Amino acid sequence: MQNVIHGNIVDIFAKENKVAITDPVYPVYLDTNVMSGRSGKYNKEKGIYENIVYLPVTAENDFKPELPKEKVDMIYLCFPNNPTGTVLNKQELKKWIDYAKENKSIILYDSAYEAFIEEKEIPHSIYEVEGAKDVAIEFKSYSKTAGFTGVRCAYVVVPKNLKGYTKNGEEISLNNLWNRRTCTKFNGVSYIVQRAAEATYTKEGKKQIEENIKYYKENAKIIKEGLEEAGFKVYGAINSPYIWLKVPDGLTSWGFFDKLLEEVNVVGTPGSGFGPHGEGYFRLTAFGTRENTIKAMERIKNLNIQNY
Ligand SMILES: *Cc1c(COP(=O)(O)O)cnc(C)c1O
Repeated sequence: MQNVIHGNIVDIFAKENKVAITDPVYPVYLDTNVMSGRSGKYNKEKGIYENIVYLPVTAENDFKPELPKEKVDMIYLCFPNNPTGTVLNKQELKKWIDYAKENKSIILYDSAYEAFIEEKEIPHSIYEVEGAKDVAIEFKSYSKTAGFTGVRCAYVVVPKNLKGYTKNGEEISLNNLWNRRTCTKFNGVSYIVQRAAEATYTKEGKKQIEENIKYYKENAKIIKEGLEEAGFKVYGAINSPYIWLKVPDGLTSWGFFDKLLEEVNVVGTPGSGFGPHGEGYFRLTAFGTRENTIKAMERIKNLNIQNY
């Protein structure tokens, strides 16, 4: 459902607004903007759209995007990150808030994986960082926290003092715009689904969710340790259900996909599917059963990666 909001929020921005995304990225941010006409042509050779600012996140910059060199209007940030499983701390997020203030940009912050955060110093919401209420919209899904994928309930925070600017520089309330847009085009989440979402905040609901997340986090740990034992370089997994690994030298993301599928019958997601800078990486997820997770790791350990 958060994807629906991502698809809708673009309605309140002008076509001329310049969008920045990380590379690799959760594809929805890019695709919704391409569909609403905010990109230029697709460059097949480079695998990128003109008019979109791509911010590489790779092992070389420790998966921390650098500020754009030019002025952008909309910045998509997702932490804990899908696909890389990496996070930003408050100081690192503050840089983005300062950039947004200086450039009158809006940060679109996706905190879908907030419940997986383990380390104390990592913020669960961008609003934990000073100044965020003046520049950021935050999206939150119940899908990954409470198994709501397909159940269609999520929410978005558009602070009352968040301002957009018209071409003439006139200030407008984004909260008002978003409210108008939503009340015109959407009649709300069904009552039973709302009650289910409400139940996630009860004592019993919270306990069940905590147990579930703990289970998946243990899977993530098993995958991380298993891969490291097998000789892989691994990122993410600590504050996230995603494990981002470097594929063995000499293989592409898809080459590794084939090898994994054919030789040990394990599937994952090729990093190149998330953007050109995802090439050479691969994503595994902790959202499986304990039994299958352990089995997959045993199989991957039998994969001879030294030859590559
Ligand atoms: C899964 C996911 C969502 C979408 O969740 P829905 O509420 O099911 O649409 C949003 N953002 C990220 C980064 C996700 O991985």
